[in-house]
Amino acid sequence: MAHELVCWKCGASLAELTLPLRRLEECPQCHAELHVCRMCEWYSIAVAKHCREPVAEEVKDKERANFCDYFKPRPNAYQLPNSEATKARSDLEALFGKQPAGSVTPQPDATAAARAQLDELFRKK
Ligand SMILES: [Zn+2]
Repeated sequence: MAHELVCWKCGASLAELTLPLRRLEECPQCHAELHVCRMCEWYSIAVAKHCREPVAEEVKDKERANFCDYFKPRPNAYQLPNSEATKARSDLEALFGKQPAGSVTPQPDATAAARAQLDELFRKK
């Protein structure tokens, strides 16, 4: 099964692992356990217990292999350290760059201008 998972801890590609991940699967590079909250689709620090799945039992240690039945590996689980600026920028780029086809009239000039301004902003830090 093709997938594009990366290690939540070091960002190494996990393409050679087959899905579903076994409970004791670990990263070939840093040997972090992978069946963990940090690697999970439902993981979110914005909600109570850091899990968006309301039924799942609370898992105390988000970085150790869990027995959670709701575990679902999440692509892009890896977060670059100190990536707020990077994330803000990619969010903006997503906004400007990936408008759904057909829903809005494309305005290439306005988009390009806004983008140039953004580039300027980020360069000045
Ligand atoms: Zn790793």
